[in-house]
Amino acid sequence: MNSKAASQSASYQRASAAESALEQPVVVLRGIGPALAEKLSRIGVSTIGDLLCLLPSRYEDRTELRKLGSLRPGEKVLAQGKIEIVEAIFRGRRVLLCRLADGTGSITLRFFHFSRAQQNNLVRGAVLRCFGEVRAGPTGLEMVHPEYRIVGPDTPPPDDVLTPVYPSTEGLHQQRLRRLATQALELLETTPLKDYLGDRLTDDAPALDDAIRFLHGPPQGTALETLLTGKHPCQSRIALEELVAQRLSLLRINLGRQREDASPLVDDAGRVAAFLELLPFELTGAQRRSLEDVYRDLRHDVPMHRLLQGDVGSGKTVVAAAAAVVSAASHTQTAVMAPTELLAEQHFTSFSAWLEPLGIKVVYLTGSVTGTARSQSLAAIESGDAQVIVGTHALFQQEVEYRHLALVIVDEQHRFGVDQRLELKLKGKDGTLSPHQLVMTATPIPRTLAMTAYADLDCSIIDELPPGRKPVRTVVMPDSKRPELVQRVLAHCQRGEQAYWVCPLIEESDSIDSQAAERVGEELAAAMPELKIGLLHGRMKSALKEKIMRSFKERNLDLLVATTVIEVGVDVPNATLMVVENSERMGLAQLHQLRGRVGRGKAASSCVLLYKPPLNELARERLGVMRETADGFRIAQKDLELRGPGEVLGTRQTGIMQLKVADLVRDAHLLPEVIRLSDELIEKFPQRVQPLIDRWLAGQTHYAKV
Ligand code: ADP
Ligand code: MG
Repeated sequence: MNSKAASQSASYQRASAAESALEQPVVVLRGIGPALAEKLSRIGVSTIGDLLCLLPSRYEDRTELRKLGSLRPGEKVLAQGKIEIVEAIFRGRRVLLCRLADGTGSITLRFFHFSRAQQNNLVRGAVLRCFGEVRAGPTGLEMVHPEYRIVGPDTPPPDDVLTPVYPSTEGLHQQRLRRLATQALELLETTPLKDYLGDRLTDDAPALDDAIRFLHGPPQGTALETLLTGKHPCQSRIALEELVAQRLSLLRINLGRQREDASPLVDDAGRVAAFLELLPFELTGAQRRSLEDVYRDLRHDVPMHRLLQGDVGSGKTVVAAAAAVVSAASHTQTAVMAPTELLAEQHFTSFSAWLEPLGIKVVYLTGSVTGTARSQSLAAIESGDAQVIVGTHALFQQEVEYRHLALVIVDEQHRFGVDQRLELKLKGKDGTLSPHQLVMTATPIPRTLAMTAYADLDCSIIDELPPGRKPVRTVVMPDSKRPELVQRVLAHCQRGEQAYWVCPLIEESDSIDSQAAERVGEELAAAMPELKIGLLHGRMKSALKEKIMRSFKERNLDLLVATTVIEVGVDVPNATLMVVENSERMGLAQLHQLRGRVGRGKAASSCVLLYKPPLNELARERLGVMRETADGFRIAQKDLELRGPGEVLGTRQTGIMQLKVADLVRDAHLLPEVIRLSDELIEKFPQRVQPLIDRWLAGQTHYAKV
């Protein structure tokens, strides 16, 4: 942090002393030892504040004693009745049955495991209170292994609040969690939480403390359904605050970046114009707008940090190449990083074809570049001879020394973790200068998600496809129609068009998937001896992959049987049919990427999604979405709904967003409010920013570094 930043941060108020009582570790509570603390840490609870934020995932209603005659199967209820019969029967094993009646109806309690003492305790005529799920049994309504107690003079009345059920982990019982929550709530009475948003919200919004108290024990009569959807005003109030804190922290990273220095990059000699002149096509309006954004950023002496979003085939690469031209015109280097070798190779081909005619030297560097080729690349990078360097993450290995790296372009952003982004940034440092960064993603990120998860990035969207693209017709087909399909592929190829056959995704294992592809390749070759069939899978050496790809591109192959390695990037306009096997096992984003390989030329294309019945609910929904829309943003939104944001961003492992309470899908409607509040706080109440971030994001330090 430089001095500007340090003085500003010192002026932020620290969290109040009172609040720090809630920042104490949970072990200060009664009854918590190291073992329990460890279990709590597994569910993300380390401070008392965390305990307060551990909101119940559901509730049980033990506030009302239900009449036995009113019970319906499926309900979870508290009920009470007089024991009419108790009998241990033998049905393959011993079963204890106990029938209760209350004058309105009866119910049977069924126990498969029970002790002698338990059996003796249940005597005819005693009144028994039980809690459990009602189900239809062979002789009427039943409860299996309910919680129960014999009612006596000391038995307390039913609860007056709903019983919270907390998200938990093995060996951590609800009773325990409830007792701990109660203690934390007592502490909350004496050390109230500062409400940083209260005065910015409407009067009917609950105060933070009240919302927390309410959710740990909602009063009798609270609508359970609203609580279960997570949209109760008290739940929204807390989620809102967390999202504001998260956005503030990202915005602050952005502010921090503005205090860094970068080389301003300008194209004085009109080389971009020359570059565009040489292209075989005109840029689309959306490409031009994105390019303007990039030029504007590059001219500044603060590092660009821009996300370039655009659907598959929208033409992001050429925008990136234009940025590299600006960098070369400024006598600085550009690194272009792709997630896979195949994609890196393809970028290398495009960049070379576009830039070499302008006299810009492009080199290639991946893990599989070895020997003389490697030392030549390394030397060219170090001397500054190489102006554009295309490769995989190998670009950022220790041994690679840049002469003057000023621009880093990352393709398929979502495949790189936070750590890699950080590594890349550090590697890109040139003395005190940080590189400009352009990150491209082909999986459109739903707006809602981008506004929070990527609030630290500026965003350009290419929302227009190059002219002349025809929509891809998509059909979903059971595996049993395979023979007809083979005939169709044959006819298709005999007409002179090409096709992909994407092979079963069996597991996340390159070697097993590759074997499966080999087998399918053999089967198809046997069924269609007339065709020239190529095979492409992840276990092949990249030189071989490239050779096969090239011969497919040059139409020396009719059909390419491949694993999902072709998912990203590959561009063959004459390939107009794609078959995807086991499509029911693939995620939406992946299917969308795969399908993006066809529909790239002038002819109409189609995509056949084969599946093995029966389809489960989720798979049916996914395939339905694929059939109905080709709009990447809609697909991404749907993907988000079906899989959750962690999966969509690929950050479940890297932990970019560890939200405690909020859920980006469920709480998407809060986002306009989140944006309004964050902007207002920064402008009018900057002293609240740090305490809010501390409250919600303490400990998530990597946020500050990326
Ligand atoms: P993606 O955004 O998926 O990375 P690419 O950059 O690979 O897309 O572009 C897809 C194809 O469209 C490439 O063959 C590219 O040359 C071509 N292309 C890009 N922009 C245009 C344009 N404005 N007009 C016509 N074709 C274009
Ligand atoms: Mg691309």
